[in-house]
Amino acid sequence: MSESVLRIGLVLPDVMGTYGDGGNALILRQRARMCGIEAEIVEITLDDDVPDSLDVYTLGGAEDFAQRLATRHLTEHPGMQRAAQAGRPVLAICAAIQVLGHWYETAAGEKVDGIGMFDLTTSPGPARAIGELVTDPLVAGLSQPLSGFENHRGITVLGSDAQPLAKVRHGVGNGTPEKVEGIVQGSVIGTYMHGPLLARNPELADHLLKRALGVEELAPLNLPEVDQLRKERLAAAR
Ligand code: GLN
Repeated sequence: MSESVLRIGLVLPDVMGTYGDGGNALILRQRARMCGIEAEIVEITLDDDVPDSLDVYTLGGAEDFAQRLATRHLTEHPGMQRAAQAGRPVLAICAAIQVLGHWYETAAGEKVDGIGMFDLTTSPGPARAIGELVTDPLVAGLSQPLSGFENHRGITVLGSDAQPLAKVRHGVGNGTPEKVEGIVQGSVIGTYMHGPLLARNPELADHLLKRALGVEELAPLNLPEVDQLRKERLAAAR
């Protein structure tokens, strides 16, 4: 963290943020505050430049047209790309995975160049994947199953610089025969999970916070309502 306040970028909530994905920034801010760390959300809209000085960035899902506006804006204002290169954590949900890749093809068959932060490409599958998604993380430091809700048509193929975030236990995820979900590349994590993701997966929230703060450990928060939510959502997938 560069200053005494943790600054959380909520990137393009005006065009990307289906299913309450903006909640991921709220969860990061709330968990930081509960750990005694001052934190604020910086909203970056289509009217703003994208600063490279924030501590962590979050992006939400979007439908095809909104996704294209976001792609153009992030190409013209590459602050988040610079921050990721410097090791700042970024969380990309659903359409944002596709935008951050090399290219994606829309449901109408149009191929759109992405911003190239992720070594992956996305093409439309035969049917939409809709429903509860449960996965087992493949990333060091994460041991709890991940829970989310998916609603997308993208089949996402990872290149050799990208690792999957998790193995699919229930649901579709990236839609490839390996049955994996999401992507990790450097400090950038992508997943098809809405929920919002970090409300359902506090371990992942703290993983991002630790990286943003540059600390090894955070005091565990005892929040029975979060445990209850996880239990309910994991049960709903059976
Ligand atoms: N438009 C993309 C797809 O259908 C992403 C959808 C979303 O973000 N919910 O694959």
